[in-house]
Amino acid sequence: MNYPLVEIYIEKIRHNAGYLVDFCSKHNIEVMGVSKGVCAMTPVVNAMLQAGIKKLGDSRIQNIISMRQNSLNCPIYLIRIPMLSEVAEVVRWADGSLNSEIDVIKALSQESVIQGKKHRVILMVDVGDLREGVMPEDVLDMVGKILGLPGVEFEGLGTNLGCYGGILASYENTKVLVDLAGDIEKRYGIKVKTLSGGNTATLKLLEKGGLAPGINQFRIGEAILLGTDVTNFRKVPGTLQDTMVLKTEVIEVKVKPSSPIGEIGRDAFGNIPVFVDKGPMKRAIVALGKQDCRIEGLTPVDETMEILGGSSDHLLVDVTNSRNIQVGSIIQFRMSYGAMLSLMTSEYVGKKIV
Ligand SMILES: *Cc1c(COP(=O)(O)O)cnc(C)c1O
Repeated sequence: MNYPLVEIYIEKIRHNAGYLVDFCSKHNIEVMGVSKGVCAMTPVVNAMLQAGIKKLGDSRIQNIISMRQNSLNCPIYLIRIPMLSEVAEVVRWADGSLNSEIDVIKALSQESVIQGKKHRVILMVDVGDLREGVMPEDVLDMVGKILGLPGVEFEGLGTNLGCYGGILASYENTKVLVDLAGDIEKRYGIKVKTLSGGNTATLKLLEKGGLAPGINQFRIGEAILLGTDVTNFRKVPGTLQDTMVLKTEVIEVKVKPSSPIGEIGRDAFGNIPVFVDKGPMKRAIVALGKQDCRIEGLTPVDETMEILGGSSDHLLVDVTNSRNIQVGSIIQFRMSYGAMLSLMTSEYVGKKIV
């Protein structure tokens, strides 16, 4: 076996997906399974589909192409605003995309006409998190323009919360989407099919019964893959968290002082390190570093261990209170969404389905 290695417990991910599909469907909400966290790895995506998910979303066109090449036929959406330079591929490989720029939507329309397709457009609305989306007052005009384009189908509205500004979902900000849909239906005499009103962070509002009625889709990644909700800093009720584990190999164990010796300059990433002198400690180095992983997002499975820090290729762990750690030992970690993203993307990290 090669280390570092991420082991993925596929049954647990299937459980999470199935639980969330059931929970959301009780509230007439469909789940779009978001696959970017695992780079759209085939077995994981298949587990989502087996659990009852009918639509997938990914932020990278490369991941969407690889899903298609693995014979996935369900609807797949690009959930990052398309780059103008990738519009031809987006139309070719994705059924729809989230959008906020009329120039991009025009380009999608033109390309769809050329390819003989109808590309579905979900217009993103910024209800306060200040990442992507048109401001609410600009939505009606924008929809008018989209309806005039022959190659695209206006499918509905979407919003994203909790990701950039950390803004929590509320009745008020999800209601903005529902009200706008009502305005669109009145003004243009069309049905707004999809109101894609949230992600993992919005599940909490749904549990509390505070979601504006009318929202009918959540795009969910984190709660399926890890059972966590970083925005609300919690475990998602009904889901399992031990879905993945990172296994790393120890390359050095020595008792050393807990504070470095000599004049302190800057570390390998330009920061000035600060140390607390706790006396001598038993320190293990594992072969994993910042090139592979967002190490702040790791937590040792063994609670007697503590991560001290790391550099590009080394992670230091305080193992003073841990037994049987020697060169060649395997130390296991749980990971945050950010750590998972980086580990799954690194070609230096093995992945194994269990
Ligand atoms: C990543 C992403 C999601 C999924 O968010 P989770 O918090 O992982 O559920 C939903 N929508 C968009 C636009 C995203 O980029």
